[in-house]
Amino acid sequence: MFTVHGNIRSYLHRFKIIDTPTCPCGTKNQTLDHLLFECELLNKERDSLKSSVLKKDIWPLSKNRLIREHFKIFAKFTNEISFDKLNDVLNPSYQVD
Ligand SMILES: [Zn+2]
Repeated sequence: MFTVHGNIRSYLHRFKIIDTPTCPCGTKNQTLDHLLFECELLNKERDSLKSSVLKKDIWPLSKNRLIREHFKIFAKFTNEISFDKLNDVLNPSYQVD
């Protein structure tokens, strides 16, 4: 269900796949919280997530509540994330526009 975990830098780091968990946007670790609430690379995707949540709930809300109460919206957000974009640092020769 949460296949997004396999793509997130901190998980890759935990499993020693990459050397650093830092997100390509800057100095933060690329945790799910960072991607959901902070990452500037995902501003557009987050705006869509936020406006969907705000129709029924408050923002910001906890990650657990988001997943539990608004799973469809959360799933849409994870589907919209361009992991090709986030992984440019991992694979600098592979770029998709
Ligand atoms: Zn980031």
